[in-house]
Amino acid sequence: MTNSRLPGFYKLSVEERRRVAAQALGVDVADLSRALSSGGMDCATADKSVENVIGMYSLPFALGLNVQLNGRDYLAPMVVEEASVVAAASNAARIVRAGGGFHAETDAPIMIAQVQLDDVRDVAAATAALLAETETILAEANAAVPGLVVRGGGARAIEVRDLGDGMLVVHVLVDCRDAMGANLVNTIAEEVAPRIAHLAGGRIGLRILSNLADRRCVRVTASIPVEALAFEGRSGESVRDGIVRASRFAEKDPYRAATHNKGVMNGIDAVVIATGNDWRAVEAGAHAYAARNGKYEPLCTWRIGDDGSLVGELAMPLSLGIVGGSIRIHGGARLGLEMSGVQSASELAMLVGCVGMASNLAALRALATDGIQRGHMLLHARTVAIAVGARGEQVEHVAAEIHARGNVTLDAARDALARMVAVSGALSVGLGGE
Ligand code: NAD
Repeated sequence: MTNSRLPGFYKLSVEERRRVAAQALGVDVADLSRALSSGGMDCATADKSVENVIGMYSLPFALGLNVQLNGRDYLAPMVVEEASVVAAASNAARIVRAGGGFHAETDAPIMIAQVQLDDVRDVAAATAALLAETETILAEANAAVPGLVVRGGGARAIEVRDLGDGMLVVHVLVDCRDAMGANLVNTIAEEVAPRIAHLAGGRIGLRILSNLADRRCVRVTASIPVEALAFEGRSGESVRDGIVRASRFAEKDPYRAATHNKGVMNGIDAVVIATGNDWRAVEAGAHAYAARNGKYEPLCTWRIGDDGSLVGELAMPLSLGIVGGSIRIHGGARLGLEMSGVQSASELAMLVGCVGMASNLAALRALATDGIQRGHMLLHARTVAIAVGARGEQVEHVAAEIHARGNVTLDAARDALARMVAVSGALSVGLGGE
């Protein structure tokens, strides 16, 4: 991928977009079409992967454009049902390019295994005994995951946390390399628990990963020149200042921060799902991290830089894999990963973080200026048109009409569609009579 700017992409047909995307990525368009047409998984495979299957459930697979990350261009695969998420993220990523794109870094892919111990009588002595045996515990942990160790990962350290009332929790920090790591970490937790209980003199409780993956954070920054923020007669300064005020609102108020972070997660989840990752794990980690200081806070904040630019900072945990889990059995996930062009789980986390920041920027830019509804409603109008039965070109016509009337409702769409069908029926009767 040399350039993720694909001007006019949105105006093309689905087939044309596939051709352009395949060309841009250097992949075979037939392979791409096959994977995208089937939705990535057949019913027989689904029946083997979860219980009580009765069918399949589809969502749109789209491409987020314009992402430039650490000097490289990426197409972001996005699976999402909500109108305007893809357009908004692509548009914001284009604005960020004016300042050189996104810059991101990640921690090592460290996940946390938790082993709970109850009825520990002497917490200080237990802690000392556990720390003295760190190497033995790590060796035992690594023996349980040889496949991971061969690939350069494995248990790295232990930590002991006193939760009071005789409850001690031991964390084993595990480098999961390119796997999300939940199963690997759970295996380790169960393997080392008996030794840990023996050393500490307590009773074994839970043995499972923590989804608060705060050792596996991604940090994204972007600096946007103020001129790039100007639009529709508004100065860049006024847009920038509105975005910064919106950020401060979220920093002060959990009610606003929840919605602010929902905007971040619009982009995050779409790429997480498109790459076959566990979005519940990502969501749990994101919100626990947002509340880590005892108050729910925004994952992405905006300030004015020394040169007057708009500076964004996003930090959050992202436990993602490019191997393991359901990736190997889902053709759409494999295609999403291939299209993203990432070579490691850490690189995927950086890309996902960028799309989260782009989604947040797009929402704040709209909120701080026209309000969210103007841009959103035209796109939402299409969904409403489809819901009342519009198909093909009818969708655009019905959507445009109800949007222009300022009445994006099912009733208005039904009405517009009925009139359109009546007119085209009359026309075809007329034509038929010639
Ligand atoms: P996994 O069980 O498939 O393990 C990853 C496998 O990939 C290992 O066998 C590993 O050896 C191998 N591997 C190959 N190349 C690798 C590389 N380069 N780096 C690392 N490993 C490599 O998957 P997982 O990642 O351990 O677990 C993820 C799954 O666990 C997801 O499906 C998730 O939904 C599920 N899960 C989540 C939770 C939770 O989040 N609370 C709990 C249980 C299970």
